[in-house]
Formats: sequence, C-alpha cells, structure tokens
Amino acid sequence: MGGEPRPDRAGRPDGPRAGRDGRGGGAPPSDGRESDRAAVRRVLLPSPRSFCAGVERAIEIVERLLEQHGPPVYVRNQIVHNAHVVAGLEAKGAVFVSELDEVPEHALVVFSAHGVAPAVEAEAARRGLDAVDATCPLVAKVHAEAKRAADAGDTVILIGHDGHEEVAGTLGVAPGRTVLVETVEGVAEVRVADREKVTYLSQTTLSVSEVEEIAAALRARFPNIRGQGAEDICYATSNRQAAVAAVVDEADLVLVVGSANSSNSNRLVELAAAAGVEAHLIEDAAAIDPAWLDAAGTVAVTAGASAPPVLVDEVVAAIAAAGPIEVVERRVADEPQEFLLPQRLRTHDAPAPSGRTRPPR
Ligand code: SF4
Repeated sequence: MGGEPRPDRAGRPDGPRAGRDGRGGGAPPSDGRESDRAAVRRVLLPSPRSFCAGVERAIEIVERLLEQHGPPVYVRNQIVHNAHVVAGLEAKGAVFVSELDEVPEHALVVFSAHGVAPAVEAEAARRGLDAVDATCPLVAKVHAEAKRAADAGDTVILIGHDGHEEVAGTLGVAPGRTVLVETVEGVAEVRVADREKVTYLSQTTLSVSEVEEIAAALRARFPNIRGQGAEDICYATSNRQAAVAAVVDEADLVLVVGSANSSNSNRLVELAAAAGVEAHLIEDAAAIDPAWLDAAGTVAVTAGASAPPVLVDEVVAAIAAAGPIEVVERRVADEPQEFLLPQRLRTHDAPAPSGRTRPPR
C-alpha cells in the first residue's frame, strides 16, 4: 500500500474536480488551437463509483461506537475491504482481529459488512461479547434466502469465490445443506440430495455476466432449480460494472481504485480487460506507473464500492500532474439507497462523524 492513511473520508484534496460543465481543473486555459486540444488527455469518470450505502453504514457504525464508547472497538475482520479505510479507523482506536478469541470477554465487537455465520454470532454470545452487526442488509438478505431454502429442504448452491469472507458467512447459514460453485465447469461436480429440491444464490459482489453464465449452467443441469439469475448481486456492484462498460470502448487505460482483496473492484478490472483495454487495480495514486499514461489519450478512473471517493480525486490530480486533462463524468445510474443504522446507534441530534449533518438513520 502506498501513501499515508487518510482518516477523514470526507476530506478533499486540492486536485482537479469535474465542474458543472464536466471540465476538470487540470486543463489549462486554451486558445483553441489544434495543438493544444491534441495535448489534452481525457479523464472519464464512470458513475456510480466508490462508496456504496452498505460500506458507508459499516464505517459509520464503527465511528459512532468509537465516539460513544471510546477505544478500543474490536472489529472482526476488515470492516470493508479497503486498506485506507481500515488504517483510518485504526488511527481512531478500532482494533481489527481475525477471530473472536482475540477479543477480551465482554468487550465491544463489530461484525464486518461481509456478514458472519450464525456460529460466530453464537460464539460471541457465549463469550458475553457486546456484538454490533455491520453486515450489509443486502448480504443479510442472501442469508435469509439461504435459511428459507434450507428450511424448506432444498440444497442451496451458492455461486461465489471460495475463501471470501461473505461466502464463508453465507455457507455457514446452513452448512449441512449448502454447496459452493465457483465456475461454469464446477456445475458438473455439484452433488445434491434431491434434484427437484435445489435453490441457487450468489455472492453479492461478482460479475453479473459470470453469474448469469453459471446460473444458466445450473438451470440446464437442474431444470426445476429455484433462483433469480444475477439478482443477488447488489445494486452497487452491478451499477459500477454498467458504468465501466459504458465507457470502456472509449478508454485506452482503465484505473480501478481499490484494495487487492476487494471482490467488486477486481471484477471491474476484469470487465475492462475482457474488453481488450489495459486495466489496473491501484490502491491509490501512488500506485500509478507513469509509463501507463504515455500512450493513454483517454483514461477511465473508477473505484470499487469500498474505496473512498477522495482516492479517486487524488488519482485524477496525479494524472493532471502528468499533463493537461479534461474531466468528463459519465453517469449511468443514480444511487439513492441509504441503509438504517442499528437501532442502538440511531440518534436524532448527533452529527455524522465526518462532520456532515444528516438526518437520523
Ligand atoms: S458492495 Fe453491495 S453488498 Fe457490499 S456493502 Fe456495498 S451494497 Fe452491500
């Protein structure tokens, strides 16, 4: 990871920003001559990008607990998959642990946005921990679907990536009745108790097209399978993929801001690469190789759902430092989604930790 942690996710750098006319501050005044126009690099900003409602909520849960209780606030696993977010919360007193046995008895512990298996919740209760659940409501919805299907006697086939924390949590909802499938080829290996009683679900942060392909293979093998295509993929993941797809044909280079363990960020890189465009996942502006920009007249810059918006601003500023730019925002969807905080953290008068004033959540 390069660069310094940025504890304040509302902070803005002094770099160029897209103006109302879509032009960024990096482009110098031009007298309109052809030579000037040819030298200006275009920076496309597909939108939506960066933080989603589930990530905002999870971070806010930790911040509010730190305000209310003071440090330490223990968090099981990374609250969201972003190194800058984790470093910022650590600087405020959050302590990230891999397992609950690292948390002192009766301490405050937060479950991350990726969700946990019921066995983890039971272990927290057994040890008398004060657990606060920051699981994204859209992950919790998949857990509820898994429980409903398993309770009805179905084998649950989960489309997902082995080892991802969200997958571990969902597999744990009905561990005796759930099997994981990662690829179209893997569908042939699936064993079920009753071919007529099968339901499929998916991890929320996968490639829409990949899940649809796997779902089609499952339907071909189990004609009566229950499931709804790629509908478990969350709005934030599908919107960010649609936004990149909308600009990729114009881009010579795609930069995706996100951490290496961020599933939805990696899917954006894959989408661009599959379109034949050079694409890189970067932690932050410090990770840009200047050589990438040499032949890139148009650069698309986006960010996964766990990456703070300020990091995108800093990437745009870094590109501007390499030469004049014109910034063009390309919005494919609005994201009005906002998720309620857990009841114990809802307040009517407390300002948001970043200093923003917002209505009670
Ligand atoms: S990426 Fe999707 S599932 Fe994950 S926190 Fe954001 S909205 Fe929730």
